[in-house]
Amino acid sequence: MEVDYQPDFEKQRTRYSFCFTCEDCAHFDGETSECLHGYPNEQHRLGYYMSEIRPDTILFCKDFDLA
Ligand code: SF4
Repeated sequence: MEVDYQPDFEKQRTRYSFCFTCEDCAHFDGETSECLHGYPNEQHRLGYYMSEIRPDTILFCKDFDLA
């Protein structure tokens, strides 16, 4: 069975206010848009998931901290 994954995720992300990107992480420097731990964060940024051509998968950061 083929699952229409992306639209389902978008609905659930909005409905449950799911936070998983750098912008919601305590280790994110909003002024420089860099990770305070120095991690490459392009694939953890909200813009990556909101782009016109959206990725098929989600890359979760193991150091995400909602604080
Ligand atoms: S710890 Fe991970 S989620 Fe948090 S700012 Fe750094 S790269 Fe982003």
